[in-house]
Formats: sequence, structure tokens, C-alpha cells
Amino acid sequence: MTSSRVEAPARWQQCANCGNRLDELDPRTSCPECGGLLDVMFHTPPGRGAELRREFSARPRLTGQPFEVSGVWRYAELVMSAPPSAIVSFPEGNTPLLMNERVAQWTGCEGLRIKHEGMNPTGSFKDRGMTVGVTQAKRVRARAVVCASTGNTSASLAAYAALGGLPALVLVPAGQVAIGKLMQTMAYGARTLAVRGDFDACLSLVRDAAQRLGVYLLNSVNPFRIEGQKTIVFELLQQLDWKAPDWIALPAGNLGNTAAFGKALDEACRLGLIDRVPRLLAVQAAGASPFHQSYLTGFQERRTTRADTIATAIRIGDPASYDRGVRAIRLTNGVVVAVPDAAILEGQQCAGTAGIGCEPASAASLAGVRAAVDSGLIHRDDSVVAVLTGHLLKDPAGGGDPGAEKSLTMPTEIDASLGEIERELSRLTSGR
Ligand SMILES: *Cc1c(COP(=O)(O)O)cnc(C)c1O
Ligand SMILES: [Zn+2]
Repeated sequence: MTSSRVEAPARWQQCANCGNRLDELDPRTSCPECGGLLDVMFHTPPGRGAELRREFSARPRLTGQPFEVSGVWRYAELVMSAPPSAIVSFPEGNTPLLMNERVAQWTGCEGLRIKHEGMNPTGSFKDRGMTVGVTQAKRVRARAVVCASTGNTSASLAAYAALGGLPALVLVPAGQVAIGKLMQTMAYGARTLAVRGDFDACLSLVRDAAQRLGVYLLNSVNPFRIEGQKTIVFELLQQLDWKAPDWIALPAGNLGNTAAFGKALDEACRLGLIDRVPRLLAVQAAGASPFHQSYLTGFQERRTTRADTIATAIRIGDPASYDRGVRAIRLTNGVVVAVPDAAILEGQQCAGTAGIGCEPASAASLAGVRAAVDSGLIHRDDSVVAVLTGHLLKDPAGGGDPGAEKSLTMPTEIDASLGEIERELSRLTSGR
């Protein structure tokens, strides 16, 4: 970033499992020694908080090159030091932090704030990781990029690959992806393969493909995606004037985002951007809750499950970022809860009738906060930020599978007459 006065630190990749170090430009996305997941590392000198806060608020927001107005690249010092010409950005981020009385009341938490990541270019937070991941793919001169997806990763990868001029290959579980997400992926021109199997099967297939066929893997096991997703936290902290909330709630599937939130909070605290670490509330769907079940054992046992939930974006039975997720929960004194599909749909409907449209997986955040208030874990007057991860139009039928109408209110059919409109209008205004 040309305007930057703050020097970007040197970076390397490091195995979280055995400590093995790899160059920043090594295209492998797991440890060649032990197969563990990699982290992007850089020194975080304490006491730079005030300087960085000034720098972040001085950056332009409305006009300029995509990387200058991006809500990800604003935090470049904490994300990646790439030359501006290498950055693949739409831009993304700059999502609103909303307050809404109706939704707050539904959760029981009066001061609830809602970080709406559905307002990203392809309608989910995945764009924050993908701008960094695809930029890295270009830096390592990948010949193609690949991912497995429950839908949003593929939509995002397809868009950023198209923008960056890279061929994209996508594997999705056949018949299990919400129609909005599939349409995006196809429209952005990714080669899309529907695999007879579940998401977990797709992921292990692309990890093999990446290793043997030399394509660059852009699932959230890729540490550069995590670096981009950290900016959800940096941005919401900046929107709160760097006053840390008590809790941050998010839906948890493959645990990439949970990991990113933990890493962001750790770094923000070390640098002195904030003076205490908020607690993470990771929320799973009851039918896809291996992380919750592991949490209940004190993480003594790693559980897996056959996943089944209407929240397709978190329909994952064997989370790839499990170890990182555990680290994030421990580091933040976090909690993992599970909520039934009925509560998720109720949360989605409540937000919808308040004009805040989100897909089912996102509403898990709201349902999780509500459950935590009910159980006394979260107090009514705690400051809580719930992250909505994806847009309503992603999964309009609310069940993932095309044709499902689980949460959708259907239109009332009428004759083409003013009388009928008059009747409906009086019903509407009298609240019937
Ligand atoms: C990917 C996704 C999630 C889950 O994030 P993980 O990093 O897999 O835990 C939740 N909600 C939406 C809308 C998503 O697209
Ligand atoms: Zn290792």
C-alpha cells in the first residue's frame, strides 16, 4: 500500500503441529513433514496499537484503487505484504455493523450488534479470504485454483479467479448445494464437478488433487484465506472504536472462520489494538455438531459425525480446521454451542421480518446467542456482536435443496382487480 507509513513485517508459514517452517511463497498448503496445517506467521511487536489504529482510520474508504478501498486490504500490515499491482480485489469488506431492536429482543440481548458479511461482493464472508487466497495463487504462479465447497467458497473462488484471470475447478456434493450458490459458481465460469458424496469426501479429494496435480488449493485449510478472514474482526473492532465487545458469535462448520477469529483477536491483543480478548461463541447446527461434541469432552476426544442440517453452509461432519478451532476457543475462553434447525429457521425469519436477510447458516449466530442468554451464559446487558455470514438470496428456499420451502412464505394469489388489493391492504394494516 503506497500511502503506508507503517512497515510491513516479514512473513513465513509454519506448521502448527511440528513447528516446521516454510517460505511465504511455498505453494503447499499442509506441512510436508507431518501433514499438519500451516499458519502465516509474522512478528507482532507490542505497543504498536495506537500507531496502527491511526493508520487504519486515515485510509481512504470511498474512492481509489480496489485495494485502497477494500475492507480487507485496509489492514494490509496484518494480512499480507503484496505489491498493489498483484492484489486481486473487487473490493470487499466494509460491511455494516447493525443494531436492530426486533432481532436484539428475539435473542434476549439488548445491545446486540449484527455484522452483516452477506454484504460482500458474492454475498458471503468467503470473499475476505478469497481476495488474499487468489492474490497468493498469483504470487506462487499457480496454473489453476481448486476448492471443495458447500456453495459459498465455490461462488467466491469462481468470482475472484475470474477477476484474476486464473482457471478455477470446483467440487461440490451432488444435489446438496443451494441453488443461488450454484448459479453464481457457473455464471463466474468455474468448471463445476458434482461429486457423488458429501462435502467431507469432496475436501479429501481436492487435497489429493492439490498435492498430486499441482493445482493451488483454496479451501480454508489454506492459511492465506485465514489471514483475509481475520479482517472481519479487525473491521468490527474498528467500528466499535476498538472497544472490545464481551462476545463475538459466529456459525461454525469447517472451523476456518473460528480459527481466523481466534488468530485476529490474539494479534489485536498482542499489538495493543484492544486491551482484552472477547469470548468467542461458536455455534453449530445440532445435526452437524462434531465440534460441540468434542467441546463437551473438554477437547479430550475429537468427534466426527454424519452431518445433517438445513444450514448447508455448516453441514460438515469432520471439520478440517479442528486443531486451529480448538486453539481459538481456548485462547478466547470461548464456548461452543449447538442449536436445532427449528431455532435457526426462527432466527432467520425474525431477521428477515426486520429487513435483514441472511441464509440459514448465518442465523445460527442469532439462535446461538438466544440459547446462551436463555442458559445464563450471556447476560442481557453484555455487549455482543453476532456475525451473519451469508446473504438471504444464497439459499432462498431455506433448505439448501432446490424446491425445499421450509421457511419461505409463499405469495397470495389474487385476481387482477383493485378490490382484491384493497382487501389485502386493509388486512395488512390491521395486522391480520
Ligand atoms: C463457510 C460458511 C460458514 C462456515 O464457516 P467455516 O469456516 O467453515 O466454519 C458459515 N456460514 C456461511 C454462510 C458460510 O459460507
Ligand atoms: Zn508439521
